[in-house]
Amino acid sequence: MTIRLLIASTNPGKVRELRTLLAELGVEVVTPSDIGLDLDVVEDGATFEANAVRKARAFAAAGGLPALGDDSGIEVDALGGEPGVYSARWVPGSDADRVAALLARLGGVPTEGRTARFRTVAALAVPAAPDADPASGDRATHLVATAAGAVEGRIAFAPRGDGGFGYDPVFLVEDGGLDGTRTMAELDAGTKNVLSHRGRAVAGLLPTIARLALDG
Ligand code: IMP
Repeated sequence: MTIRLLIASTNPGKVRELRTLLAELGVEVVTPSDIGLDLDVVEDGATFEANAVRKARAFAAAGGLPALGDDSGIEVDALGGEPGVYSARWVPGSDADRVAALLARLGGVPTEGRTARFRTVAALAVPAAPDADPASGDRATHLVATAAGAVEGRIAFAPRGDGGFGYDPVFLVEDGGLDGTRTMAELDAGTKNVLSHRGRAVAGLLPTIARLALDG
């Protein structure tokens, strides 16, 4: 029995990564637009976990399907862990604007002081009444599981690479056997998926997702 799993995100970079990560399980990945769902969840929780759970529950309720939510960000030690949970809206504008702002804030900080990590919490929620009509209003959900993942590295002095999204072009990966010579945006998608914060968090949920698929 395969299950349909709704990705609680409209970020194309993230959806692409999650689709690849889940493909091996035989899970049918569904995006909000696939089912005509236009839902904007306010991500103002104080932690990655709070936002991930909020997204998973809101999408499971509105879509009537098991939903996978995740919330991620980058923690820069020289900035006291900022931008962290505020990574997406730390600076208005594009990913490139946020990358430029990060490099400016780290102006004068030498290599040793540029340590950082990406962090993700992923959450899986299911509708409490899978057969109920989604149009019938707010639906109760069960939170099934959460899992966390992180990847360690260092902020580069200039962006490099065309892969990934967000802060990838300035994140030198020093984890999973990589020595910090390549940015996350210079890794092929398969390598990023295996060692990334999101890959590691989703890996923690895979047994639970597989069990859902078995139970139908
Ligand atoms: P979200 O709230 O989980 O969608 O992610 C918050 C922000 O963190 C994104 O807009 C990106 O700027 C950043 N981010 C999350 N994951 C990644 C990643 O894998 N690479 C680069 N930036 C990321």
